[in-house]
Amino acid sequence: MSAQWLDGAAVARTIRAEVARDVADLKASTGRAPRLAAVLVGDDPASQVYVRNKVAACAEVGIRSDEVRLAATTSQDGLMGRIMRLNDDADIDGILVQLPLPRGLDRVAVLLGLDPEKDVDGLHPLNAGRLLMNLDGPVPCTPAGIIELLERNHLPVAGRHAVVVGRSEIVGRPMTILLMQRDATVTVCHSKTPDLASFTARADLLIAAIGRPAFLRGEHIKTGATVIDVGVNRLDDPGVAASIFGADSKHLRQVRERGYTLVGDVHPVEAAERAAFLTPVPGGVGPLTIACLLRNTLRAARLRRPVAR
Ligand code: NAP
Repeated sequence: MSAQWLDGAAVARTIRAEVARDVADLKASTGRAPRLAAVLVGDDPASQVYVRNKVAACAEVGIRSDEVRLAATTSQDGLMGRIMRLNDDADIDGILVQLPLPRGLDRVAVLLGLDPEKDVDGLHPLNAGRLLMNLDGPVPCTPAGIIELLERNHLPVAGRHAVVVGRSEIVGRPMTILLMQRDATVTVCHSKTPDLASFTARADLLIAAIGRPAFLRGEHIKTGATVIDVGVNRLDDPGVAASIFGADSKHLRQVRERGYTLVGDVHPVEAAERAAFLTPVPGGVGPLTIACLLRNTLRAARLRRPVAR
């Protein structure tokens, strides 16, 4: 079997076009475009890239955005004070705080400090509770994007056995809830799961959100499964890149030319031999995450500025 690639970038483009249309409508009826504040503390290079991409994506769909950069030495009080000012700023509709925060800063306190109505990542406990209770609210962007990818490709969820590897607050946990709400039978695996393959190899739908390069191999995958690879891992060792992608691959050339290549949590070559559908890295889940962030920002703006009908 040779898997069909699931084009997350194409689905993301469709969602962004929908958001751009609705942003234009909102602006026409209220006079103001939605506005997002993206808070970046410290100078982690990967976080800088993520925030830059989010800000650029906002501009493409007509959402205004501010990159709020704070030094890595920012105190907890300083960060909380900045968030309170963004909460109180009537012109700001959405706030995202790029995670992880530098060591020493309390992530939970930051999430609790966000105005839940401006929490476009859906990570405030009130919004996590809304998700758990199947109430309307902002859904964390990565799992929301995965559901869009499945639904828009007409890949069934109801009645299927879904295995989610990873139980983070941002991906694994909300993913399991969304799948349960859609009538999948869900198994959750994590770092303490013994004999991981005995679970994953029974999955009709396998979601990998682990953070380990090419960790799930052929033996972890059921023939004919749908495999969603959330992981984004940098590889800078040419030997490792060659062992995964082959000695004549574009990935190896990328390591030699720009110093690194990207690989997911799933071994792409072995998975392609077993799965029926597979997401690429990059170009799979990543663009969907950003598209859903834009949608959550539009949603927050609409709720804060209801249009007279
Ligand atoms: P995380 O917070 O580090 O969580 C990783 C999860 O994987 C944990 O639940 C951990 O288990 C589990 N795990 C670790 N080693 C394992 C093992 N050997 N066997 C089974 N489970 C194991 O990571 P995250 O934020 O969820 O992100 C996961 C990956 O997705 C990362 O590569 C990240 O860069 C990527 N990501 C991509 C996007 C995107 O838009 N494409 C968005 C978010 C994240 P424990 O709970 O037991 O520690």
